[in-house]
Amino acid sequence: MSVPQRPPAPGHIALVGAGPGDAELLTLKAARLLAEADVVVYDALVSSDVLALASPQAELIDVGKRPGQSIAQDLINVLLVRLARTGRRVVRLKGGDPFVFGRGGEEAVALAAEGIACEIVPGITSAVAAPAAAGIPVTHRSLAAMFTVVTGHRQHGETPVNWAALAQAGGTIVVLMGVAERGVIADALMAGGMAPDTPVAAIRRATTADQVVGRCRVDQLAVMTVESPATLVIGAVAALNVCELVSGAAYAVG
Ligand code: SAH
Repeated sequence: MSVPQRPPAPGHIALVGAGPGDAELLTLKAARLLAEADVVVYDALVSSDVLALASPQAELIDVGKRPGQSIAQDLINVLLVRLARTGRRVVRLKGGDPFVFGRGGEEAVALAAEGIACEIVPGITSAVAAPAAAGIPVTHRSLAAMFTVVTGHRQHGETPVNWAALAQAGGTIVVLMGVAERGVIADALMAGGMAPDTPVAAIRRATTADQVVGRCRVDQLAVMTVESPATLVIGAVAALNVCELVSGAAYAVG
C-alpha cells in the first residue's frame, strides 16, 4: 500500500535574523531574501532601516509584541502558516538572531507541523553585538573565559534562571529582557555571592543612531537609569571600552 505523499508546500518562507539594528549588520542572505520578498512579517525590534531593504512591492505586516497590545504567539503561528500556503515568498523577520529568545523555534515547529519547511537564516544577536557596540568584548583573556546569555523575563511569575549558580560560575553574564527586573536580578546575584562592585553596562538601542550606554556597579543597578529594550552586561568586562582610544570607532559610546 502506498503512503499518500503530502503535496510540497507552495511558496517559500524564511525565518530571518534582522541583527541588532544597523542595517549593515544584516547577512547578505537576509538582504537578498528581503529584496525578493512578497510579504514581510516583522517584530517590534526590527529597525526601520532594515525594513527599508524590503522590496517596495512587499506587504509589510507588523506583529510586534508591545506592552498593552500584544499579539498572541498562536495567532502569529497561524498567520505564518496561512501566508506560507498562499505561495508567496514570505520573510519572517526577527530582531537579532531568530533562535535567541526570539521564539523562532516555536514558529519553525508550528510550520513543520503543517508540513511547511522554512529556511532558517541566523542573524547577529544583540547578546554579542550590543556589548561590542559599547566596546565590551564578552570574553577577554584573564577577565572572562565564558559568557552566559540569559533572559531577565519571568515566566508565570517565576525566573527560569538560577542566578546564584551564575554568580558562582563567573564569566560574563549577558541579560536580555532584563531592564524591568534589574533590581531583583542584582539582588539575586549578590545573594549568590557576586561582589557588590562587579561592573555592569546597559546598552540601549545598540548599533543604532539612538544608542545609549550606561555603566554602574551591580549594587547600583536597581537605581540606574535605563529604559527598555536594553542589554545588560554583568562582569569584569563591563568596565571595558576597548574602542576608547580609537578615533572613528563604529559606534560612539557615552
Ligand atoms: N532575538 C534577539 C533577542 C530578542 S529578546 C537577539 O538575538 O538579539 C529582546 C531583547 O534583546 C531586548 O529586551 C533587549 O534586551 C535585547 N535587544 C534587542 N535589540 C537590542 C538592541 N538594539 N540594543 C540593545 N538590546 C537589544
